Amino acid sequence: MSFKSLGLSEALLRAVSKKGYSTPSPIQQKAIPPVLEGRDVLASAQTGTGKTAGFTLPLLHLLSENPKQKFRPIRALILTPTRELAAQVHANVKEYSEFLNLRSAVIFGGVNQKPQAATIRQGVDILVATPGRLLDLQNQGLLSLKRIEIFVLDEADRMLDMGFLRDIEKVINMMPEKRQNLMFSATFSKDIRKLANGILNSPVQVEATPENTTVEAITQKVYRVAKGKKTGLIIKLISEGNWKQVLVFTRTKHGANRLCEKMVKSGITAAAIHGNKSQGARTKALAGFKSGKVRVLVATDIAARGLDIPLLPHVINFELPNISEDYVHRIGRTGRAGASGEALSLVSADETTFLRDIEKLIEMKLPVQIIEGFEPDTNASTAPIKQGQGKQNRSRRNSNNTRNSSRNTNRSNTSRRPKRKNDRRN
Ligand code: AMP
Repeated sequence: MSFKSLGLSEALLRAVSKKGYSTPSPIQQKAIPPVLEGRDVLASAQTGTGKTAGFTLPLLHLLSENPKQKFRPIRALILTPTRELAAQVHANVKEYSEFLNLRSAVIFGGVNQKPQAATIRQGVDILVATPGRLLDLQNQGLLSLKRIEIFVLDEADRMLDMGFLRDIEKVINMMPEKRQNLMFSATFSKDIRKLANGILNSPVQVEATPENTTVEAITQKVYRVAKGKKTGLIIKLISEGNWKQVLVFTRTKHGANRLCEKMVKSGITAAAIHGNKSQGARTKALAGFKSGKVRVLVATDIAARGLDIPLLPHVINFELPNISEDYVHRIGRTGRAGASGEALSLVSADETTFLRDIEKLIEMKLPVQIIEGFEPDTNASTAPIKQGQGKQNRSRRNSNNTRNSSRNTNRSNTSRRPKRKNDRRN
């Protein structure tokens, strides 16, 4: 199948070919035709599947079919949970609309609102936004959503996790009732279905390839190690392996900072990315990592969500997540698009329960290795790390959930996560 056969306009085909895409990804093949028909769409797809082009290309096609209006009211709204995702989606919108007479803008919190408001005042057709800043500007009368024709809710599951449900409802009430709605989510929980029922009108349902194929394609390994020796071990693995691009996950923001400092002291270029970092610092860290200037990016789960880092060879869990599904999200950042990848986890005695939960969820026993000089502490307690240690901790799921088959891993379970109001500006 080609992009042309999907019915996209010449201007869009030019932009797609400039990006170097030859064939539409499965989610694009399935989502683009119904969106072009004007249907509402409920899509199951996470980052890495090409979902952004899946909704952006037909959205641009539809908007460009109608003549531009004099004052350019906002006609399409793309709502995303995080600033990073908003910036990435907007970068895509700009690239795909290069040969069209359409204007777009992105707004998110943590930066001065003035330039954002000024851009909107000049008229934009497409607005990419995070909920907080969108509502701020709307409340100040700096933007109107009354002329929205197409509404996209991206990463809807993460939106709910981050406590954005009320904000989404407010945004919905600001838009005209007659509009086209597209909703993307990596998981399909009861809550997501309820939200979808409230927003979508007889939607066409589409989904990308089941995610367990990704999980199976990744080489996974566990290093059993004493808690106090983890830093030494990770530095040894990265240095001796001469790894150039490594994404490391920690459970807390402080943990990310501490590890980053130690890496830098031992001569490994590293940067941390988490909710306490300014937008500028996060953008700089990500750019450095992508360009190869920074070898190690240390991230917390929420900060990493939505990052567009293709073909990552190494992912290391410095600490296991206490929510098993986050493990699947984390390791899904390696081995993308057929490229091989390796996911390593450094596991200390107090993480034993987390490891068991993860193995149940992925229905796979992970191979364990012990490195000389970095042996686990045999006297250490295997009692799980206490809740509330670090702000990013969340309560554990009901253990019954782990019974679900790995085929459903990312579609059924994350719904049980409690809302994380504190993280909403992450
Ligand atoms: P997304 O899932 O939207 O975050 O996209 C993941 C990555 O796939 C991005 O780097 C896109 O630029 C890239 N991509 C999207 N569509 C295609 C395609 N049809 N062919 C090749 N790469 C693509």
